[in-house]
Amino acid sequence: MPGAGFHSVPHFSRGRGQQVNGIVIHQFAGGTVAAVQNWLRNPASRVSYHFGVGRNGEIRQWVDTADTAWATGPVNGRTIAIGHEATNQPLTEAQLNATARIIRWARGAHRQIPAGRNGLSGHRNWMQTNCPGDPIMRQLDELQRRSTGATPAPPPPPPPPAAPPRMEPTMLIDFGSGEVLIGLPNGARAARLASGGPLRVEWSYPRRPGGPGAPRTTWDASQSPIDRARTDASVPSDQFGLLRLRRISGAAPCYLTWIF
Ligand SMILES: [Zn+2]
Repeated sequence: MPGAGFHSVPHFSRGRGQQVNGIVIHQFAGGTVAAVQNWLRNPASRVSYHFGVGRNGEIRQWVDTADTAWATGPVNGRTIAIGHEATNQPLTEAQLNATARIIRWARGAHRQIPAGRNGLSGHRNWMQTNCPGDPIMRQLDELQRRSTGATPAPPPPPPPPAAPPRMEPTMLIDFGSGEVLIGLPNGARAARLASGGPLRVEWSYPRRPGGPGAPRTTWDASQSPIDRARTDASVPSDQFGLLRLRRISGAAPCYLTWIF
């Protein structure tokens, strides 16, 4: 393949017994391309790949694709073997791009290799082996995509911003010694109180000094169930930004919800 450094290794068969019609992906599981090359040259190895791809995207060609590499047992005669520097890790970006380049070139040189995804397989699709690891098996679709130059589907547009909440979460009022001051949230139109049992509460909005006296409203929940024991109070414009609540009688829990 043009652009790939060719480094001959001894173990392969001259020619092809069959039409080349597939590409098989392998992982080296532990070795760098340089170390694997040393092993392929060892008389004891009896193994070879057409290509090896390093983590950095370096491509080494070890066997001409017109010849048969010894990598994938029963389908050696009709496949091209590409080994990868990886140990049950995913291929790097550089490896994905380099291998996609090999696949693209191989389809041009061997026209019987299907253009579709079924032209690609993993070693483990043919034999009892853990080669390649799951992360690489999951990348075969991505290799196919890159090898055909197809662009991925554009990401969906971001969802429209959520409508501002109409209410804040209801909170339980702790009266403490009997009176509590609560800061008014920005834009609150009213406060809604609810209680499930006997409770009398006085509420008012403290006014600025010199302004009219703070009107006080008494709310009696003693006879009302929680879903009906509700009173809204408009927030006056000249208040301090506080709501004052005072328990007059009763010990039932009191819930407050701001309305915007
Ligand atoms: Zn393998």
